[in-house]
Amino acid sequence: MASLQTLMQDYDQHRARLEELRDLLEERLAAARADLSAAVTAGSAALAGLARRESDAIESALARMDRGLYGTCVRCGAFIPYGVLRRIPHEQLCLACAGTRERQGHSGATEIPAPRPAPAGVPERSRPEAAVPPGPGAGDEAGNGT
Ligand SMILES: [Zn+2]
Repeated sequence: MASLQTLMQDYDQHRARLEELRDLLEERLAAARADLSAAVTAGSAALAGLARRESDAIESALARMDRGLYGTCVRCGAFIPYGVLRRIPHEQLCLACAGTRERQGHSGATEIPAPRPAPAGVPERSRPEAAVPPGPGAGDEAGNGT
């Protein structure tokens, strides 16, 4: 029988983990802010942008913690494994959604997949399927509207 005591123990453990993760988040937030001001001082817009994005992500994770939403996926609501949060305490996607993000080319800031020009020197007709001449019935589907 799942006793109330067990539930309370789970709850205590959950709270202890949250406290631990909050400490981690605050540590990282301080580090990200230090990075940010160092990058600004050094005049590196790229580094400053990175540090700002990280500190924003951490702040929003802390805000979600205050609302009791921390540790759940922002996209589908699934729980994010504790092991993931230990490594990246501001992670806000579950493994499945993070996997989708990876495949789509990360969180997609400015990555627009540019259409690649066809490689030069490879003639179309070198592909075997293009070498097959249209059969006798090739025009049937196109012109018989009436
Ligand atoms: Zn998800």
